[in-house]
Amino acid sequence: MHYFDNAATTKPYAEVLHTFNKVNENYYFNTASIHQAGRDSAKLLEASRKQVLQLFSLPNYTCVFTSGATESNNIAIQGTLERKKRFGRTILVSQIEHPSVINIVDHYGGEGFNVEFIRTTGEGRVDVGHLESLLNEDVVLVAVMAVNNIVGSVQPVEEIKDALMNYPKVHFHVDATQAVGKAAIDYRGVDSLSISAHKFHGVKGAGALMLKEGKSSGQIHFGGGHEYDIRSGTVNLPAVAAMAKALRLTLEDMDDDLARIEGYNHSLRSELDGLESIVIQPSDVPHIINLSFTGAKGEVVVNALSEKNVMVSTTSACASKRAASNETLTAMNRSPEVIDGSIRISMSRETETENVEVLISALKEVYEEIGDVLR
Ligand code: PLP
Repeated sequence: MHYFDNAATTKPYAEVLHTFNKVNENYYFNTASIHQAGRDSAKLLEASRKQVLQLFSLPNYTCVFTSGATESNNIAIQGTLERKKRFGRTILVSQIEHPSVINIVDHYGGEGFNVEFIRTTGEGRVDVGHLESLLNEDVVLVAVMAVNNIVGSVQPVEEIKDALMNYPKVHFHVDATQAVGKAAIDYRGVDSLSISAHKFHGVKGAGALMLKEGKSSGQIHFGGGHEYDIRSGTVNLPAVAAMAKALRLTLEDMDDDLARIEGYNHSLRSELDGLESIVIQPSDVPHIINLSFTGAKGEVVVNALSEKNVMVSTTSACASKRAASNETLTAMNRSPEVIDGSIRISMSRETETENVEVLISALKEVYEEIGDVLR
């Protein structure tokens, strides 16, 4: 199988599975139990927390372990809005956020908040000038992702931090789910940050929300008080310890991986360059390539590739469950034909030269097969 859907999920590293299994066998205890076995498990939990924060260079932040980025985004956004609603009611959000951000913001839009969408450039990046023009004393939340999951554009997180300097009331939330191991971004100073382990070769069911020192999240979960009373519920220690390991391995080899995947990205683009009706979007990270068979349907291309044992996706695994058209490409002002015909190819450290060669041949074959519908 030739797997090119790594933006949906990645294969756990063997070393990560080893950690996961070892912790499941030896530290299956409740980290909140006060007996010795519980205390030993709590020590491992704290070591994992410290490691995650150090790897992000955020040693003074609070790291709350969650089940993944959907939960982290929801806690950050709901918690912030519940806490700040007495001080202001405007939310600024980019047009190209993941549904786990857009849908909760939409919900608050129906609860009396004013939701303003920050424009996106043709390259899929948030327009900081437009963001600045939307800022006022009523704004309490700005939410912008670090790397877009549909086209791989890197967002101007550092410029946004600067733009918010004179607005201390604003909470700046960054969804860094697609950025880990793909883009070196300085997150110091952002108010909260979400990650999800399975996007960087960890196991599913673990994520984190990192909160700037002194920023608590309003309480939206009620329970036994785990994870600073922000995310109650018995902690999934095996998945959390495995996430800390996956993070270390991913960041250690990031430069080498980037160089190799950059080469694959280049080969794909140059091999398909000049094929009429094929449109390839720009991307800032090499891992993601958004490609359209203009005139065809993305699903048809995905299925045709799947029959050749090549796995890609239409827009994103999450968004494809919804009938809505692709918000990112729409925000980038692409034509309906380009949007309908788009597929996402996403690579990871596990991608090898042979996979890319097979993908290129399969794309060319599908191009020939469906040539009559292409424009
Ligand atoms: N944010 C972004 C940018 C994503 O790409 C995804 C998953 O595709 C998520 C959040 C949600 O992550 P999870 O499904 O692990 O909760």
